[in-house]
Amino acid sequence: MASQDIPDPIKDFKGYQGSLFKSLVAATAAANSIPVEEWGFFRSLDRQFAKDVDQAGASSLAIGNALLQQCAVDCGLTVKSFDDIDDVVERYGAATDVCDGLLEKADHCLDEISGKHTPENFKQDNPEVTQIATKDKLEYKFLHANNVVRPQMKFKDPVNNSSSVPFERKIKYKPHALVPLDSTIVAEDKSLPHPYEYEIEHIEYPKSMFTVTEPEMYKPYDTTSPTWVDTEEALLDMMKRLEGHQELAVDLEHHNYRSYQGFTCLMQLSTRDQDFVIDTLELRDKLWMLNEYFANPEIVKVLHGADSDIVWLQRDFGLYIVNLFDTYFPTKVLDFPHHSLAYLLKTYCNFDADKKYQLADWRIRPLPQEMLEYARSDTHFLLYIYDRLRNELLEKSTSEDGNLVKICLQRSNEVALQKYEKEVYDAENGLGPGGWKNMLIKWKYAMNPQQLAVFKALHSWRDHTARDEDESWRYVLPNHMLMALVERMPLDSSGVIGCCNPCPTLVRMNAQAIAYTIQQAKMNALQTTKEQGFKEETAESTKIETSTTAAKNGSVTTTMQVQQVKRNASDVDPSLFDLKKVKKIRTETAAKLEKKTSALFGSCL
Ligand code: AMP
Ligand code: MN
Ligand code: ZN
Repeated sequence: MASQDIPDPIKDFKGYQGSLFKSLVAATAAANSIPVEEWGFFRSLDRQFAKDVDQAGASSLAIGNALLQQCAVDCGLTVKSFDDIDDVVERYGAATDVCDGLLEKADHCLDEISGKHTPENFKQDNPEVTQIATKDKLEYKFLHANNVVRPQMKFKDPVNNSSSVPFERKIKYKPHALVPLDSTIVAEDKSLPHPYEYEIEHIEYPKSMFTVTEPEMYKPYDTTSPTWVDTEEALLDMMKRLEGHQELAVDLEHHNYRSYQGFTCLMQLSTRDQDFVIDTLELRDKLWMLNEYFANPEIVKVLHGADSDIVWLQRDFGLYIVNLFDTYFPTKVLDFPHHSLAYLLKTYCNFDADKKYQLADWRIRPLPQEMLEYARSDTHFLLYIYDRLRNELLEKSTSEDGNLVKICLQRSNEVALQKYEKEVYDAENGLGPGGWKNMLIKWKYAMNPQQLAVFKALHSWRDHTARDEDESWRYVLPNHMLMALVERMPLDSSGVIGCCNPCPTLVRMNAQAIAYTIQQAKMNALQTTKEQGFKEETAESTKIETSTTAAKNGSVTTTMQVQQVKRNASDVDPSLFDLKKVKKIRTETAAKLEKKTSALFGSCL
């Protein structure tokens, strides 16, 4: 085709694409018209043919090398150019790895540029209800929608997951202060103290909290409806309506799958006569106003199982609770057979809690009606339950036991005094709730030294990827896939992808880096074992003791046994790090990758 017939790609991309496709089909068909085994024969037959073929070959190689170098530069890699056709065949695997990674990233970026991921153009699918029949025929529903907008994009406080940057406290103004904000700062102490520590330790409780009173019945559930609060105006209106109330029931709904640190999606707030459900994604930077009530010691805040709620309130809104009554503690002090909110709702209100939405995706907006109803049932009955529990505690209090209400309040205060801190990643010892040691204990998987090294390296890769992308590590690479990678230790990207089904997006995008991480960890471990004078005959099982310190309890030390199986040195094939062997593996992979049909040409050739 003459060059003037080729449409200008800028003016007519479709036309250009069509002509490119035609040329490629023609070129490929022409190339295929001479069987490979007859090339030598034709070359010797016609000198000009040999020259042309060599020229075309050199030109293709040059174009290929230019593309490869461009890709390598984009990936920040150093890749040796192909010398000749044999070299291409041998190193084809590495080139496709680079291209696959790049195409995956390009695809993702194109979606982003074309606005598929921007809040304005983002189309959230209609929420779906999935019904799962479990063994005991109970039905579980999970409400989720595809393409939920990432609420983080709208946060005024940018997400920072780096463990080297400590959590920045959000409270700027301290209502109901007995001591000024940060009066107790110790210069050497890096982290700031709990701003309401003094106030919580010196609460003067209203007398009414220690006297038996007639429980105040909740408003009927079916004939009342919650107020949805998602604007500043509605928030201010709600604040007005909270005035004068001595008790507030509070609960939160949270999301932590598509986020590293997690975020609060909803706050449910109930007085004796009204339920409010607050869109905390919309009002994230305005809810600090609620400290007016939350930090007021004369207003009791009733929550059930407030451990997480306390840290979420601090982390997302700078909210602190002074005078917390956690209804979980009465269930312990009074020795109830169960300790859940569902049990209390059934016992005191004969209400069947619809816990099937506990795992719903609370980011979905507009919030489906059934999720709204579920959410408000978590606080609607709670103040009545508080009355009943308080009476029971007072009735059961003896002078010996002391006042049981006080005991519950004291335990609640310990919960309220918790401080939110970012989790620091401990690569060395694997300590902390998200550390690798915890996972080793749980999975009880016997690993050889290479596998242990690969496990630690992948665990660390997963954590920093999750922090960088602001995703949970469950989203980046779930535990069972991490273990599959440890078990098989694939050394190339297709092997990595093959271990994960369905393959998570971030694994697919970083398959090559993962393969490289595995290679490095394995090689280092092999080196170390060799240096330690690893003998061929030793095939014994040794137990190493490792201790882990429960971060929260500080002094509590648990000991675990990690089975480390020393294998015959021959179990690990050192030739895997032999360049020739690696080449051979790559060539085999390349052969497998060569398909009979092509995505571009189909089977027309
Ligand atoms: P709740 O206090 O029961 O309303 O739960 C508050 C939040 O904790 C929910 O929105 C979930 O994000 C999380 N949550 C509650 N129960 C579970 C569970 N069984 N598994 C995982 N997350 C949960
Ligand atoms: Mn809760
Ligand atoms: Zn809840």
